Amino acid sequence: MNHEQYYVTDEAVIAHIVEKQKHYFHEGQTRDVKKRIEGLETLRKMVKDHEQEILEAMKTDLNKSEVEAYTTEIGVLLEEIRFTLKHIHKWVKTKKVKTALTHVGSKGYVVPEPYGVTLVIAPWNYPLNLALSPVVGALAAGNTVVLKPSELTPNVSRLLEKMLAKAFDPSLITVVEGSVETSEILLKQKFDYIFFTGSVNVGKIVMQEAAKQLIPVTLELGGKSPCIVHEDANIELAAKRIMFGKGINAGQTCVAPDYLFVHKNVKSALIDQLQKVIHEFYGEYPEQSDRYGRIVSKRHFERLRSFLQDGEIVVGGQVNEDEWKLSPTILDHVNEDAPVMQEEIFGPILPLMEYDELSEVIQFVNNRPKPLALYLFTESDEVQQQIVNNISYGGGCINDTLMHLATPYLPFGGVGESGVGQYHGESSFQTFSHYKSVLKQTTKFDMSFRYPSEKQNIAII
Ligand code: NAD
Repeated sequence: MNHEQYYVTDEAVIAHIVEKQKHYFHEGQTRDVKKRIEGLETLRKMVKDHEQEILEAMKTDLNKSEVEAYTTEIGVLLEEIRFTLKHIHKWVKTKKVKTALTHVGSKGYVVPEPYGVTLVIAPWNYPLNLALSPVVGALAAGNTVVLKPSELTPNVSRLLEKMLAKAFDPSLITVVEGSVETSEILLKQKFDYIFFTGSVNVGKIVMQEAAKQLIPVTLELGGKSPCIVHEDANIELAAKRIMFGKGINAGQTCVAPDYLFVHKNVKSALIDQLQKVIHEFYGEYPEQSDRYGRIVSKRHFERLRSFLQDGEIVVGGQVNEDEWKLSPTILDHVNEDAPVMQEEIFGPILPLMEYDELSEVIQFVNNRPKPLALYLFTESDEVQQQIVNNISYGGGCINDTLMHLATPYLPFGGVGESGVGQYHGESSFQTFSHYKSVLKQTTKFDMSFRYPSEKQNIAII
């Protein structure tokens, strides 16, 4: 199929979509909470009705197994919708605030209001979840959405367009398919909010474009997320949970452990366990396994393959050129200046560095851009405090990987170069809402001293 035929590159068409949504929004169509709930229920039904097609599209685009696609995409998304529906009545409420002594007689309150017409730009690695999760927050908060999925997962992109066009009025949600050119045209429009998930470099472009019109943004970006294994860690469990986080989607996960810092006393035990776990998860030849994802494109496959020269391969290193697959690989003796330690890996390669003192790790991480995630394996409360209190990062886990992003109770997002803003659960609603402060003054009495007057001037003199 030639997917490019669906790309929208006509500026007038895109401008018209935005115009139509503005009109719909200003008619007040999204203000009614009942309608927002209907929208979320429609979204839930749409996903459930198309489950099989979604699984097939993800298999074609990324060789995602059904179990993985269900748990990391469909299941997470349905849970986000369920949680939002459960709490929306509380979130939309106007909240009263206390009255300051200087404001006696008045009342203050905060009203969450939708921004208006929002743009959601999605990446390819979780092409359903990362496109629709922000949409859940946008709809709950009463916005309309223009959604641009990634061109690198064309089957999911096509399906999103088909499903959403059938289920929703385009004045509420429209999918615009395309690549960079389409994004560039979208970014020229006067949106009220932009929610971008993708790479740091493109995030900078999005922020620059948004700044030209002072459009507020959320940027969910990437980077190099460290994983630290201390000498007192439960090594067997650590190996399992590290490979769980690195193996899912063949390492193409924004919060995958990017590199390992392991205490020198447990390094060889960890390598042995990792090797064992890889075989348990994906068999002796992961690069041939149907349970194991493939790299999204030839370009990314070649980029990853070139990283294999940056250290000594102690586990893995097998490639399946025809299917763009690379077995989970541990690289030892890696130079910190090598490309594999400079760029976000975004694939199943795990460079390993050893340390003696925790302070070396803290210094290393703090000398680099703030990571999106950080993982620490240790039994010691003191070590946990030392890391959590001395390194800035978006979020993470102690004695696990990835799981912090799968609970709607924890806000998810980066800090510094790994992102701006947060979402999931209530923070999605907050992200897509402007909190308007209103002071309602009494007319029952007035404080005359606040007004300028001759008398007052004399008194001051
Ligand atoms: P990307 O930045 O290349 O593309 C993301 C989106 O931006 C796509 O829809 C793409 O079409 C569009 N785009 C590409 N170039 C553009 C340009 N010049 N101007 C405007 N739009 C443009 O990212 P990707 O390769 O799709 O995804 C991988 C990256 O995303 C990794 O860095 C990963 O860490 C990050 N990521 C972050 C999160 C998160 O939640 N923080 C989640 C997934 C992925």
